[in-house]
Amino acid sequence: MTKEIAFTHAKVVNSTQPLAAAAFTVAEGKFKQVFDNENTFKNYLKRNPCEVVDLAGHAVVPGQVDTHTISTFICKFKSAANAEGVSDALTLATRLKKAALAKTDEHGFVFATGWQSENLDLTLETLDELGIDKPIAVFNSSFHGAQLNSVGLKAIDKAGIKGAPKDGLLMGPIFDTFVNHARPTPVEFAKHFMAYEQSLAAAGVTTAHDLVIQKSDEVQVLKAMALKGLLKLRWRCYVTRPELLEGSLEDYGNLKFVGVKVFIDGSYGMKNAHQDRAHAYVDGSVSESKLSVKDIVATAKKLTDIGGSHAHLAAHCIGYAACETFLKAAAELRDSVYTKELTLRALHFETADDKLINRAKELGVIVSMQPAFSQDVKDYAKDIPHPEHVNPMKRVALILKDKFAIGSDSMPIGYMKNAALALNPPLPTQKVTDDFIKLLPTMTRHGASITNERQNFGAIKAGQSADFVVLSKLPRSGKDCDTTEVLQTWVKGKQVFAKK
Ligand SMILES: [Zn+2]
Repeated sequence: MTKEIAFTHAKVVNSTQPLAAAAFTVAEGKFKQVFDNENTFKNYLKRNPCEVVDLAGHAVVPGQVDTHTISTFICKFKSAANAEGVSDALTLATRLKKAALAKTDEHGFVFATGWQSENLDLTLETLDELGIDKPIAVFNSSFHGAQLNSVGLKAIDKAGIKGAPKDGLLMGPIFDTFVNHARPTPVEFAKHFMAYEQSLAAAGVTTAHDLVIQKSDEVQVLKAMALKGLLKLRWRCYVTRPELLEGSLEDYGNLKFVGVKVFIDGSYGMKNAHQDRAHAYVDGSVSESKLSVKDIVATAKKLTDIGGSHAHLAAHCIGYAACETFLKAAAELRDSVYTKELTLRALHFETADDKLINRAKELGVIVSMQPAFSQDVKDYAKDIPHPEHVNPMKRVALILKDKFAIGSDSMPIGYMKNAALALNPPLPTQKVTDDFIKLLPTMTRHGASITNERQNFGAIKAGQSADFVVLSKLPRSGKDCDTTEVLQTWVKGKQVFAKK
């Protein structure tokens, strides 16, 4: 039995009711009492003496439920140098050399991620000229390819990966083979994962969905970490193939595998979204779909075979046609007795209009959107014919209500960063609402509803899991969020982060 702790002088703002409470107590991992009256709290303390933590007037909100992270994927490249925005070889060399000094993963490669070919022209020769005597791989920002140096080419040849092009630019199947070869070992992956989890905790996240688990050894490592009690946050995980769920559907404490995520568009941002004719790019192109309605339905059936009738099917839908494809598949799935109960989720949902949003509502499709995506209307302004349709978070929030949740897509992570972007995006149609308090449900209890756990967490309420975040102040506007700090994060009544 854990002893009760009381928290006082707090400005508690709950997502269920926007009422301010002053104190609460936590015991056995749950909120035991929540007081909106100081005297009642004092009388309670007299009857139940316990440790009292004075929160000195700071704000307390429910922990963030981030419904879309790509944690596992990111942890494959955790020791990489950051090449995002780099436009000269010298800066890249400096960053790679710094990464090379750190202990590299067992495969020996020095990675850089986020390379944008439009900013920096890279070849095997330019990488060789950097004077780094280690195998190098620079991944492009969409993770669809990598440029190697000569040492890197030799290294993969030695490792038995044959048929790489002489210019060291890996794309397609050889790129996939390389990514599998150059993954961290399970032990290294576990270390990266715990470090990443800590950065989520420091940013106020208490529950995270991981949407890109591609390998069975990743599933095994996560299970092992959960069984050893090493996972601090609550994880809800999606694998990329139904077979990966086999034998992994138990409740592992802080970890549950809930379903499958499919990539319909295969794109990264609005640059190559799968569009319809009306939303075609200026050159007339619409990009292509990676999956047909038939493919999606087949995966859903397999998912039901393995994961049961209530398993989750999440779809990466960037572009109008990608959203349409998923909704067509959703209609078929709802029509079949076998698959009608599946939890269906669309991620991104670009560039949905009211017609698609209403269709999602009819079909009971949950939508999670990434606030940072709104920036694409600025980044690709020249290419996008209908910017007003990009990331229509306000319309989705209005129409779908509690079937709408915010997910960061790990770009960037964090309660305040995502709240700031959701409250203050470039276009009015992207703004979820104008007040942080009104935004809270989309970042807390709506996320808990997705996994049918709204009764267990997502609000500061007696009986619910004691997941909460102490903020330096109660933000209201997006600007406030920029200057608000996460001071403490608690999950199941345990402190998982304290700002030093
Ligand atoms: Zn995404």
